[in-house]
Amino acid sequence: MNQHTAVAAPNVYDAEPIPAEAEAEIARLLSSGDLFRYTAPQDAPVALLEREFAALLGARFALAVSSCSAALFLSLKALDLPEGARVVIPAFTFGAVPSAVVHAGCVPVLCEVGENYRIDLEDFEARLDGADAILISHMRGHTSDMDRIMELAEARGLPVIEDAAHSLGTTWSGRNIGTIGRIGCFSFQSYKLVNAGEGGILVTDDPELIARAVIMSGAYEQNWRKHDVLEEPFARWQNRLPLYNTRMGNLSAAVIRPQLPLVADRVARGRAGHDRVAAVLNETEWLHVPDALPQEKRAPDSIQFNLLGMEEEQVRAFVSASKMQGVPVQVFGLSEDNARAFWNWRFLPGEVPDMPRTRAMLMRACDVRLPARLTDPELDYISRALVVAAGEVMAG
Ligand SMILES: *Cc1c(COP(=O)(O)O)cnc(C)c1O
Repeated sequence: MNQHTAVAAPNVYDAEPIPAEAEAEIARLLSSGDLFRYTAPQDAPVALLEREFAALLGARFALAVSSCSAALFLSLKALDLPEGARVVIPAFTFGAVPSAVVHAGCVPVLCEVGENYRIDLEDFEARLDGADAILISHMRGHTSDMDRIMELAEARGLPVIEDAAHSLGTTWSGRNIGTIGRIGCFSFQSYKLVNAGEGGILVTDDPELIARAVIMSGAYEQNWRKHDVLEEPFARWQNRLPLYNTRMGNLSAAVIRPQLPLVADRVARGRAGHDRVAAVLNETEWLHVPDALPQEKRAPDSIQFNLLGMEEEQVRAFVSASKMQGVPVQVFGLSEDNARAFWNWRFLPGEVPDMPRTRAMLMRACDVRLPARLTDPELDYISRALVVAAGEVMAG
């Protein structure tokens, strides 16, 4: 590695410190041993987190759980779909999404994703025949046309779950992503906007769905009374649903809560940093950052761009040349065992589906982390390194 330039390259995987307020609360929880969300009679840290998160999103109900994967699983279970239900998902998403579908006893039906990382709506529509539900993954925060998706779903009476794991803070025509479908799911894993190591939360306005999800998350006996929910649906579901025990503990909530007031600032800085890098990349003929849709206001903590006019060998050379300068680039379809490449989801039943459009995109789409904490000189270092790498490869 080139010592000279490697020194200036920012480490894009480092996290930000957790706000200091968390320390006093964690010390209090450790000294009392009050770590379980249902020990306190009311207002446990997890319950407060749910109240605050619902308010932040403008949703009626929230349920905090152990991961976004658990939230997706519970969402599918809460919908009370028939065994073997067909759930349409984008072919470009994280492997946790088809996994949650399989875990819930459903069958994923993949639809094509275009070179702008958004759902190919023509292909999507064609896959809705025979479908029972839709799970939209806003992959890396890229929002597909939610107006059209909701229109198509409503016309067929199909419920929509939003996987907003990586989209906290993104809006669509001014509405928070995750509040447009019946249920929205978010992640607090360390590479997302709010970092608790692990954790997830789902939001919904539907009292029936939240009742089912709360019980199945592990609110055994009458622990649901410690949630901000309506009592009425619980009479229907008490003792009638399995307890999957995917609860969040109080320590995680204590780490998350002081980060919620920082979300707006992280979103603004992430967007500014992303747009600063995108402007430089788009000046070169080899690199292209697709535009956001007009309704979408993004909250990026990474940048995706396509390599234009490069053969596979040149794509690999570009990745090496970037790495030499200390900037790690992932091409979704080229790195071995990538969990975002659908052909690696070999746990799915049947043959690997034929998704030529998505496959072509994945073979040229690059992913670079740009956490909100990066300074302008650090962002400029990254964009320069990428431009230089592309120039070297295409000149040679
Ligand atoms: C991170 C992520 C998930 C999984 O979240 P976990 O909390 O790790 O289970 C699902 N979907 C997308 C798009 C993600 O980015």
